Amino acid sequence: MRYVGATPSGDSQRQAAWPAPRRVSVLGSTGSIGKSTLDLIGRNSDSYQVVALTGRSNVECLAEQAIAHRAEVAVIADERLYGELKERLAGTGIEAAAGEAAVIEAASRPAGWVMAAIVGAAGLRPTLAAVRQGTTVALATKECLVCAGQLFMAEVAKAKATLLPVDSEHSAAFQAIDNAPCDGVESITLTASGGPFRAWSEAQLDTVTPEQALKHPNWSMGPKITVDSATLMNKGLEVIEAFHLFPVSIDQLDVVIHPQSIVHCLVQYCDGSVLAQLSVPDMRTPIAYSLAWPQRMVSPVKRLNLAEIGALTFETPDEKRFPALRIAREAMKAGGLATAQLNAANEVAVEAFLAGRLSFKGIPALVEATLAACTGTFPGHNHTLDDVFEADAVARRTALSLCKGLSEKFAAA
Ligand code: NAD
Ligand code: MG
Repeated sequence: MRYVGATPSGDSQRQAAWPAPRRVSVLGSTGSIGKSTLDLIGRNSDSYQVVALTGRSNVECLAEQAIAHRAEVAVIADERLYGELKERLAGTGIEAAAGEAAVIEAASRPAGWVMAAIVGAAGLRPTLAAVRQGTTVALATKECLVCAGQLFMAEVAKAKATLLPVDSEHSAAFQAIDNAPCDGVESITLTASGGPFRAWSEAQLDTVTPEQALKHPNWSMGPKITVDSATLMNKGLEVIEAFHLFPVSIDQLDVVIHPQSIVHCLVQYCDGSVLAQLSVPDMRTPIAYSLAWPQRMVSPVKRLNLAEIGALTFETPDEKRFPALRIAREAMKAGGLATAQLNAANEVAVEAFLAGRLSFKGIPALVEATLAACTGTFPGHNHTLDDVFEADAVARRTALSLCKGLSEKFAAA
């Protein structure tokens, strides 16, 4: 299968036990996924030896985590915070480091399991460094596959790394397929909550504030993915992610709105069977799955009680009110590095929205306008990492300049 490097078949893997303590690193430990990961690790501290923890700027949180989990090294990406980190770790024996190169170095320190949970394209280089160790990489940073799916999966295969999806829908598909041959898979359907504005009219969507968009009805997540969930761009990014993880074509990937976020993905087989994975919306379930794989570990999440929930409902996404899903599919069909540019434009748009410079509806509008302006700039296959970052930079510049026009209209409205 495309998503696993060189792993033996499911049965022989299930017999294997990891020699404890297992050396683990968490990239993006100060974020939502990072904290959930450390929560699980902390509950089983005899089983793990924490190697590296990294964060961008929350030096207080990073230092506390490093001390609590007795990490070997703590790295803050913002170099200006090196002095403060060093001071906070003084006398602990924990190494302090700072800067992008130090994050990459930390990601390549030998570990048996690495959580990749840095948000955005910024996670690509560190995650690739972890992959190149040939170790097990738990992938939360979906942007790696959106920006550089072909290159990323080629690196996974080359390094004989094992890639385990952490995104709840992809973990669900992985569990439903259970490392078996995918020949009989007819389609994969990702579920989407629909976000906080699922039932809002076009007119209401004109009034959305960042504060409203940051309140997700079901999931507690970092700000960027929370806004992506509200626009449905998150589901667009996830369709692209699934395309690279599983051996299916774009047309075999479907999305259904499921407001309760209990069923995470459905895998349809050619005999009519549908296998799904269900759990309450808590990322510690897919994280625990990736941490214990190929075995299972006890996790503290609330147990599912279907009688209490009563009804699970499903509906078709409305691509008129939420065009992001269509825009993401079009970028995928356009080929070349269009999806890297989709991601870059979306990062610029979300940041502008959160800063009050762009309307909610302006997010997909800016992404679509950026892609139109960048059409055909990086066509073809077999792009290098430099190409990916150049395509990303071109799209960011284009989006920033287009955003000015949209911002002026927004301010005048
Ligand atoms: P978050 O914003 O809460 O945390 C992001 C982490 O990345 C933080 O530790 C931050 O310090 C670090 N970071 C940000 N910019 C950085 C940079 N330039 N250099 C180095 N480190 C940097 O985000 P999150 O919600 O934890 O999401 C992380 C990733 O996981 C995203 O790609 C997201 O799409 C994916 N994901 C998250 C969830 C979820 O429930 N939170 C679910 C599925 C997938
Ligand atoms: Mg998801």
